Amino acid sequence: MQTFTNVQLLQNTLDDWRAQGQSIAFVPTMGGLHAGHLSLVALAKQKADKVIVSVFVNPTQFGKDEDFDQYPNTLEQDTLQLEQHQVDGLFTPSAQQIYPQGLGSYIKVGAIGDVLCGISRPGHFQGVAQVVYNLLEIVKPDMAIFGQKDYQQLLVIKQMAAQYFPAVEVLSQPTVREKDGLAMSTRNQYLSIKERQIAPHLYQALLQAKQDYLNNASVEVLTANAEKILEKGFKVDYLEVLDANTLMQITDNTSEIAILFSVFLGSTRLIDNIIFNKG
Ligand code: AMP
Repeated sequence: MQTFTNVQLLQNTLDDWRAQGQSIAFVPTMGGLHAGHLSLVALAKQKADKVIVSVFVNPTQFGKDEDFDQYPNTLEQDTLQLEQHQVDGLFTPSAQQIYPQGLGSYIKVGAIGDVLCGISRPGHFQGVAQVVYNLLEIVKPDMAIFGQKDYQQLLVIKQMAAQYFPAVEVLSQPTVREKDGLAMSTRNQYLSIKERQIAPHLYQALLQAKQDYLNNASVEVLTANAEKILEKGFKVDYLEVLDANTLMQITDNTSEIAILFSVFLGSTRLIDNIIFNKG
């Protein structure tokens, strides 16, 4: 695996690969890699001849009281894992390389970024859309791969890519979970032993909500049941049942349902979701 910190050197190699007729899949990450990230790499390997992974902790997607300064940096282990998974290139740029004009975000995010985490984390999706835009501008892959774990982010990126990078295919992978159901996340490292023990209740609450929905329970009953599961130890940020394609209220035209929960466990914010056919 080649490691690139410099945009020009990366692009020279990408140009060589393209000249040889090789297709390129791109997996952007913020590092702290776990099996969820590696599932994206596995799909990339399946779909393309060459795989590039980026590790870049994007400052513009963190609020001013968020964990940018503490975000786990495990680059040595990340590099080993990516080598073991036969990734072709690792791109670890500086903020200067990604934001040569300074840390602004000018990409407009539509209404899909205004709900859920868009309310709890103002400016977050502008930062996400901007960094993915800048990365796609540099890498110009045939496809880019993201996780359904960050479902709203996936929709924001799909919309941005459809507008600015119609030639890039955006693919996604289902959420990878720990044995006890907790969605894998780099931020799970922040949990205390006690918090880690109760964290899987978030997924239990989602499963219960899906069951309630399929049993035609009202949103009030569904929400009350989820709150009951979460009442010990969690502080609820949002519990929503929405149209999975629009993140708006469910209508007769809705074909897929998204149940999306965000909670705090101590000071750690956890998000998770379940997507399923309306039936
Ligand atoms: P991050 O490093 O948290 O920015 O995530 C990089 C990519 O990995 C994003 O597309 C995430 O949605 C995806 N990802 C994170 N956690 C998981 C997971 N548990 N399962 C699948 N994909 C994930």
